[in-house]
Amino acid sequence: MGDAIIAQFKELIGAQNCLTEAADIAPYCREWRDKFFGSCNLVLKPASTAEVSDVMKLAYEKNIAIVPQGGNTGLVGAQITDDSADQVVLSLERLNAIRTLDAESNVAIVEAGVILETLQQAADESDRLFPLSLGAQGSCQIGGNLSANAGGTNVLAYGNMRDLVLGLEVVLPDGRIFNGLRSLRKDNTGYDLKHLFIGAEGTLGVITAASLKLYPKPREQQVAVFAVDDPEMALELFQLARGDAGQMMTGFELMPRIGVDFTLKHGEGIRDPLEEPHPWYCLIELSIGSKAVNGRALIESIFEEAFEAGLVRDAVLAESQQQADDFWRLRHGMSEIQKFEGGSIKHDISVPVKSIPAFLARAIAASEETIPGCRPVPFGHMGDGNIHFNISQPVGADREAFLARWTDLSTVIHGIVKDMNGSISAEHGIGTLKRDELPSVKDRVEMDLMIGIKTLLDPKGLLNPDKVLSVTALKNNSDL
Ligand code: FAD
Repeated sequence: MGDAIIAQFKELIGAQNCLTEAADIAPYCREWRDKFFGSCNLVLKPASTAEVSDVMKLAYEKNIAIVPQGGNTGLVGAQITDDSADQVVLSLERLNAIRTLDAESNVAIVEAGVILETLQQAADESDRLFPLSLGAQGSCQIGGNLSANAGGTNVLAYGNMRDLVLGLEVVLPDGRIFNGLRSLRKDNTGYDLKHLFIGAEGTLGVITAASLKLYPKPREQQVAVFAVDDPEMALELFQLARGDAGQMMTGFELMPRIGVDFTLKHGEGIRDPLEEPHPWYCLIELSIGSKAVNGRALIESIFEEAFEAGLVRDAVLAESQQQADDFWRLRHGMSEIQKFEGGSIKHDISVPVKSIPAFLARAIAASEETIPGCRPVPFGHMGDGNIHFNISQPVGADREAFLARWTDLSTVIHGIVKDMNGSISAEHGIGTLKRDELPSVKDRVEMDLMIGIKTLLDPKGLLNPDKVLSVTALKNNSDL
C-alpha cells in the first residue's frame, strides 16, 4: 500500500486512527486460538458512519480490499485478512455508542462496535433484557454478532441474532449508506433487505448500527444441573422439561463428563456440580416473567417427575445467583479450555433435536475409528439441535500431526451430518474454514443466487474477498 493512499486515509479519519506499526497491527491479524493468521499493513478505525462511508468510497475508488472486524472472536477465519498484505482491516471498535435505549418501546439503537456485554448491562439497568448470550460476550461486538448471526445459549426462547433485529444501517462496498434503521415491529414494504446483511460475514456491507429488540427482564431465574446416563436420557429430559416449562425454559445445554473434567482441571474457581461423577449433564435454565408462577416449584417438579421416570440420576438446583453463575461458567468454560489439552478439531453442527443421540453415537464411533485414542468433547445447545462436536487430540500425541488430520476427520463428521439432514455450520458461519465445502451443502440454484447477490452489491469483489464464496467461484460459476 503506497504512502500516498495511507495519507488519504489519514486525512479522512485522523492519523492516530490509521495503524501502520507492526506491533499495533499484530492483534488484528490473528485470532485468539492462533488458528487463523493474516498479514496487513493498515488497520483503519473510523468513529462514525460518515467516516466508514468515506473510507469505503476511497477504498472502492482505489480498488483496495477491506476486511471488517469487530471483537475478533469469530471461529471460522472470516474476520482475518489473507497473507498478501494488500488487504486492509476496518475495525468498528470506535463506533461504540448506544444511541438510544427506549425501555417503553423495548428498542435499543446501538452502533456496531458496542460490546455485547455492554448492551446486556445497559438493558439490565433499564429493567430490560437483551437476550443474546454467548461465551465471548465480554469481547464480541454487535456488528460481529449480526454479521455472524450469532446464536448462543438463549436461542431456545428468543431465537438467534437475526430474530432480535428490527432495522440496520449499513455502508455498502461503494460507500453508499443504506439507512434501514427502523424500529417497527411490522413493516411489509417490499424486500426485507436487512436480512441480506445478517449472517453475511461482512461480505455484502459494513454494518454501522442496528435497531434491536429488548424484552422484559425475567423476575426470577432457576438454573440446575441434571445428571443423566446418556444422550437418549438427555433427550427425554428435554422433552419432559419443555412440556412442563414451555417458553419459560430459556436454556438446555448438554455437557459430557470429559468436558467437566477439562474445565475443572484448567478453569479457575470451577467446582464439580455434583458429588459423584456422571457420564453426561444437562444444564437447564428457566426464566420466569410472571408473579403467578413459582419458578422454584416448577424446576423441582421437573426434577421429581424426571427422577420418578428414571430420566435423571441426580441434580443440583442453584441456591444463589453465584451458584447459577458458576454452573454457567462451567458450561461456557468448555469452549475455551480445550486448548489446554492440546489440539482440537471443532465442528459446529446441527441436526433435528430428536436425532442428537443417534448423531452422537455415530460421530463418536467414527472419530475413534478415524483417529484412535482421540477424545471427543461434544457439548452445547442441545435444545436447538446444535452440538459443538469438538475432538481433542489423543493424550501425548503431536499437536500438529493431529491437526493435520482436520480435513480427514471433518469429512467423516460432516458426512454423518449431511446424512442426517443437518447443517455443517449451525452458528459459527462459513468464513474460509468451510468455504470450499459450501457448494456440497447448497444446491446449484442457491449458490447461483448467493453469487448473484454478492456480485450485485460488491461488483468489484472488494469486501471481505474469498470469505463464504471463493473468489474462483465468483469469477467462474462453472468451477463450483
Ligand atoms: P468478528 O470475529 O470480528 O467478525 C465476525 C464476522 O463478522 C467476520 O466475517 C467479520 O468480517 C464480520 N464483521 C464484524 N463486524 C462487522 C460489521 N460491523 N459489519 C460487517 N461485518 C462485520 N458464536 C455463536 O454463535 N454462539 C456461541 O455460543 C459462541 N460462543 C463462543 C465462545 C467463545 C469462547 C468464542 C471465542 C466465540 C464464540 N462464538 C459463538 C463465536 C463468536 O463469538 C461470534 O461469532 C461473534 O458473534 C463474533 O463477533 P465479533 O465481534 O467477535 O466478530
